[in-house]
Amino acid sequence: MLPKWHILFGAIFTTLIWFFIPSMPIIYLTSIFLASFLIDFDHYANALMKNKSPSLRKAFEYHDKKREEELKEISKGIRRKGDFHLFHTIEFHAVIGLLGLIWSGFFFIFVGMLFHSLLDVSSLLFAGVFHRREFFFFSWAKKSLNKTHNSFGQEKKSRNPQKY
Ligand SMILES: [Zn+2]
Repeated sequence: MLPKWHILFGAIFTTLIWFFIPSMPIIYLTSIFLASFLIDFDHYANALMKNKSPSLRKAFEYHDKKREEELKEISKGIRRKGDFHLFHTIEFHAVIGLLGLIWSGFFFIFVGMLFHSLLDVSSLLFAGVFHRREFFFFSWAKKSLNKTHNSFGQEKKSRNPQKY
């Protein structure tokens, strides 16, 4: 889901909370609202690393290209995960939720993140691209380690072909 929709839905969600709990401190309401779209910073960070440029426009272009790639792959029946997004993992949500035991502000950040992720999951399901997202940090870390391990193995093989 595009950031503009997250900002809009985040604003509606926060206003509804404010309507039902008018006594809620503004800092908590602000935390919910900001978390409901700033969690997408990991998408920007990915584009930043790939583009080697802080340009927001280039970041959007990068994700537009990714979306095109995704549609092409799906039409060919290729089902693979997209870029990894740390802030969107279950583990990251759990850490922020648990930090809420130390400072209650984190609990409200967690609420905003959870709201964002529910919107993401619904739109991924709706678009038929649910399989693209990696939801577990440890699963991604394990796969990345295996990939590094395998590529080292291949490197060895090609360097010393006579041994194999
Ligand atoms: Zn998102």
